[in-house]
Amino acid sequence: FSARTAFPARAVVDLDAIADNVRRLRQVAARSEVMAVLKADAYGHGLLPSARAALAGGATWLGVAQLVEAIRLREGLADRTAVTDPPAPRLLTWIFSPGPETHRALVRAIELDIDLSAGSPVALDAVVAAAREVGRPARLHLKVDTGLARGGQFLEPWTAMLADALAHEAAGHVAVVGLWSHLARAEEDDDTTDRQLDVFREALRRADEAGARVQVRHLANSAGTLLRPDTHFDLVRPGLSVFGLSPVPGRSPADLGLTPAMRLEADVMLVKDAPAGQGVSYGHTYTTQRATRLADLPLGYADGIPRHVSGVGPVQVAGRRHTIAGRVCMDQMVLDVGPDSTVSAGDTAVLWGSGRDGEPTAEDWARAAGTISYEIVTRLGARVPRVHV
Ligand code: PLP
Repeated sequence: FSARTAFPARAVVDLDAIADNVRRLRQVAARSEVMAVLKADAYGHGLLPSARAALAGGATWLGVAQLVEAIRLREGLADRTAVTDPPAPRLLTWIFSPGPETHRALVRAIELDIDLSAGSPVALDAVVAAAREVGRPARLHLKVDTGLARGGQFLEPWTAMLADALAHEAAGHVAVVGLWSHLARAEEDDDTTDRQLDVFREALRRADEAGARVQVRHLANSAGTLLRPDTHFDLVRPGLSVFGLSPVPGRSPADLGLTPAMRLEADVMLVKDAPAGQGVSYGHTYTTQRATRLADLPLGYADGIPRHVSGVGPVQVAGRRHTIAGRVCMDQMVLDVGPDSTVSAGDTAVLWGSGRDGEPTAEDWARAAGTISYEIVTRLGARVPRVHV
């Protein structure tokens, strides 16, 4: 038996949709290269298959947050050597916290030709130390904080870090190939992006003045890519939109020319008659109003289904939409499918998908849970098999 197929639920991931979404993003940012951001196991879609699909769609760069994810990605992609494979992409990673174990990982990353970001003098020192050990310059992207107030240095300390990095470049330890930043509010109609752009341009001007020979300047996430051509520069870094989800409140994926790639399905385990007045699931927060039929589904909060959606999460089964009856449990949830339902054990329930067949979408789930679709797909538990089609 296969643990994969015996599991009674699955996330079916449409790899053509991923490739098509990347093609769409390439059209939108026609003068820039595309880095598909594949952090958090490709937003829950499965790292390596998603990476190959993004490359097939024309991404030339791949980005992951964590250093260890970048190493896994490079090693995983190297396992395939078919002549039809696209050229090895450039990889960028930006999260590591210096220490002895990280040092070993940085050494490995430099050996694997992975681009590294430095957003602080401590990170810069860590990269330099690893590069000295490898004996060849690390490819470095210096991160300027233009207003997100997260990674990177604000402009003045960044300018000092740039001078340090260029001194290390002259000594042969790093090659400063990229200058970059991240947007805070590009999905909103707000002037924050203009202010971030002003700071970014000033950083680029200072880098020029300091004699930096930078290859790629990059700033745009999905929202910047889709809504703000002035943020595109040499390279755009979309994540969510690669998977066909919309970063823009009020704009659907279809509006933006995108196709959601993930469909979360669960097999109905059990259907049974229940009398009127029956409390359902822990705490009996739902009570049947009439004699009805209840269907039990094998997904719960241990699979990343937010417990918040108890009583409100939408599920489609046998062509009809229902909301979850009562509390989401650890491994199960219950639907009140009504007295006339034809649902039976073994039927496929759809929690979210593209919406093309009337099924709920990850956006619907985000609304129900009071969160964003990013969280809905990335939280999906590791035990739910990803089936790539
Ligand atoms: N660039 C960086 C540095 C990120 O952390 C992320 C993810 O938040 C992205 C790009 C992609 O963002 P989005 O998924 O909104 O396109």
